Amino acid sequence: MNNDEMKKITNHRDFRDDEFWREIPAWKDVSREQFADHKWQSKNSIIKLKHVKEVLGSRVSEATIADIEAALKIAPMNIRITPYVFALIDWDDPANDPLRRQFLPFASQMLPNHPFYMEDSLHEDVDSPVSMLTHRYPDKVLFLPLTTCPVYCAYCTRSRIIGGSTSSIEKDTYGANPKLWDAAFEYLRNHPEIEDVVISGGDSYNLQASQIRHIGEALLDIPNIRRIRYATKGIAIFPMKILTDDNWVQAIVDVQKLGREKGKAVVIHTHFSSPREITEWSRQAMDRLFSEGVIVRNQAVLQSDVNNDVDIMTMLTRKLGYINIQPYYVYMHDMVPNCERFRTTLEEGVELEKAVRGTTAGFNTPRFVCDVPGGGGKRNIASYEYYDRETGISVWRAPEVKPGELFLYFDPIHKLAAYAQKRWAIEKERRVMVRDALSRVEPDLGSIKKETLRERFGLNI
Ligand SMILES: *Cc1c(COP(=O)(O)O)cnc(C)c1O
Ligand code: SF4
Repeated sequence: MNNDEMKKITNHRDFRDDEFWREIPAWKDVSREQFADHKWQSKNSIIKLKHVKEVLGSRVSEATIADIEAALKIAPMNIRITPYVFALIDWDDPANDPLRRQFLPFASQMLPNHPFYMEDSLHEDVDSPVSMLTHRYPDKVLFLPLTTCPVYCAYCTRSRIIGGSTSSIEKDTYGANPKLWDAAFEYLRNHPEIEDVVISGGDSYNLQASQIRHIGEALLDIPNIRRIRYATKGIAIFPMKILTDDNWVQAIVDVQKLGREKGKAVVIHTHFSSPREITEWSRQAMDRLFSEGVIVRNQAVLQSDVNNDVDIMTMLTRKLGYINIQPYYVYMHDMVPNCERFRTTLEEGVELEKAVRGTTAGFNTPRFVCDVPGGGGKRNIASYEYYDRETGISVWRAPEVKPGELFLYFDPIHKLAAYAQKRWAIEKERRVMVRDALSRVEPDLGSIKKETLRERFGLNI
């Protein structure tokens, strides 16, 4: 099923339940029971180009393999794909498949980086008081206890650390090591203003059951901590673990119960971006979690040719709501390396928000946000101070996060009109365009902290 066919599915209550993996030559004899086994899924994950060839055989062309091979030489992420997702890809039309796009890069589709891209677009390393912790907002923090995941997304916002070194970048990827977490717990205990911890990474699916418990119990034991969330893309790309890894699920359920006893909230935040990821397996996984009282919310990323379409975004929203996942956020794409092909304009985001709102319950309608580069944090997509649709430059404030500062977000250049693209090609013109946008918000340019713009974007305005 490609995106056009997906659009034809008008009923968000339909869930794919055929034995789709049998269309992959190497898995044609794999039974439903085998496919359901989380250990089988892990063991058969695709982590090398040669596995792509091995499992697909003649179903994949030499040209496609060459395209992926060329991409992996420059991509910031290694590949790791569960058989579940790999088999959901439409291998008759891989170039246009939204799942293939997310996990297997083609060099032919890559675009040059935006001139103002940043490796650490969200300033997570800058706003980090102790190792593995980002403390940007007054009462909530981001805790990164590990930097591995059950799949690797080609667009990962933390490509600077996640998923191991590639041919093009060296990374300090780290696995789960409980001894190293005490400093973070200590910091949280010493900062009573913090109430909320996002356990991300990396992905909580890669924490062992005992580590899920260890982190959960340690955090719930800190008096000021009121809310914790385990972040995992797992439910979207590997629902079998919820169905067959009883120890892991029981750890989540127990921490959640302990939280309730203490009057504290323990939830899961997951990451579906395409309705194609939602099948009968997802529904059953959610039935299990829901019946155990575990609340699950979703954070999607707005991506070109994945979900930047009214029907697809509406379908994603309604399908998630139907299986008791609350659509929480849809993010504008971060301005990280090697992601231009995924990015959309801010205008596309605003239009999609407008179209989706009203299609279902308000509490199941996602907030569309832009996590503004340079550490301004998540901002409502329509709350920019100024947006020039021609140059693609938007200007933002974050009064409670970084008072007095201005932030910038940039639409991808290839989506601008031809004459604007020409202006972007000239370095001096870029400065003129940015100065112009900033002066619409702050006529006295002299009062803007120029060092921060220089530090963030290398911009001398
Ligand atoms: C996203 C994020 C959080 C959590 O923010 P919510 O808007 O509550 O989901 C906390 N800290 C950091 C650094 C974040 O990026
Ligand atoms: S699951 Fe999240 S952290 Fe892991 S590669 Fe994907 S986007 Fe990055």
